[in-house]
Amino acid sequence: MAERVYFDWNATAPLREEAREAMRAALALTGNASSVHAEGRAARRLIEQAREDVASLVGAENRNVTFTSSATEANATALTPAIEVGGRREARDRLFVSAVEHPSVLSGGRFGAGQVEVLPVTSEGVVDLDALRLALSRSARPLVSVMQANSESGVVQPISEIAAIVNAAHGVLHVDAVQGPGRISCDIGALGADLMSISSHKIGGPQGAGALIRRGDVHIADSLIKGGGQERGLRAGTENVAAIAGFGAAAAAARQSDFQRLAVFRDRFEAGLRSSTPQVVIFGKNAVRLPNTSLFTVPGLKAETAIIAFDLNGVAVSSGSACSSGKVQASHVLAAMGVEPALARGAVRVSLGWSTTETEIDALLTAWNKVVSSLLNKHATAA
Ligand code: PLP
Repeated sequence: MAERVYFDWNATAPLREEAREAMRAALALTGNASSVHAEGRAARRLIEQAREDVASLVGAENRNVTFTSSATEANATALTPAIEVGGRREARDRLFVSAVEHPSVLSGGRFGAGQVEVLPVTSEGVVDLDALRLALSRSARPLVSVMQANSESGVVQPISEIAAIVNAAHGVLHVDAVQGPGRISCDIGALGADLMSISSHKIGGPQGAGALIRRGDVHIADSLIKGGGQERGLRAGTENVAAIAGFGAAAAAARQSDFQRLAVFRDRFEAGLRSSTPQVVIFGKNAVRLPNTSLFTVPGLKAETAIIAFDLNGVAVSSGSACSSGKVQASHVLAAMGVEPALARGAVRVSLGWSTTETEIDALLTAWNKVVSSLLNKHATAA
């Protein structure tokens, strides 16, 4: 098979060599991390090392990192009325989520349907801060969940500003930071988040591991998975030591990320797109975006056929929501940004990562030129 090029890093990143090695070592162990014997303590050591590495990635304290099976589970754990701040037992009365959140946040977690309110975004995909202020005036103890950066458009939310607004309203802020680490700086204190979710497989760790990170005085009184007392009682179930060890190794490696390099390659790609296809529409281009993501289309394109054509040319790209790929549905992100459905149906996402090369960017542009000319010609002939 000819060499393939991978541009779907926002869906999942390749496993880093450091993570593979850490997992291999962990799989050679036998102990249950809850056991007191030497075998158990060896497994525990790997988990605690990983906790330290994940905590360092996001500027948190080790004890405030809880390992979960995914960011989806971390989100579901965080989105509960039972959040205590500074020891005060006051249930959160409403949940506010932005319209461009991941489905695991949009689902509202453990809030009743009538308690969840969706906040609008601007045409660039940024949360409307005036709407947020107004919405929060309708709640005494709000929980707000806004993502750090969108997986489809790459648009980065003004989290520090949002945190100030939420603070002033005596609210709690949860940030789904899955797409942040390794691409932009992601420090829980600097962002002003109270709770944060991250995912292993977006930073080069294995799939099936995630973490919920808390600020020191924020406590979740109602764990999602109840049972044994693992993870300080917040997440029952014997830990997946190998996945956690791989996650930790990936987190340590992700701290060395070169954000600027990603931006140079993404900009090279978009410059190439614009010069070969002047009619190209790049979504969210006037907003602050992740340096590794480009979401674009040309009028008349159908994403489903474009992705297959890219694939036949040896290039992996995606469309719509990363996590529901395999089935191309209308993007709720582009709908929230007010993009016409016909244009949104053609949106193609390119996302790159630490091992992307200039040669791969050039291969991507060559494939794009082929795909766009053949598909748009077909479209014109059929019309
Ligand atoms: N949140 C965002 C913003 C995502 O992009 C994704 C996956 O793409 C998730 C949450 C879910 O992460 P996980 O695959 O670890 O459940």
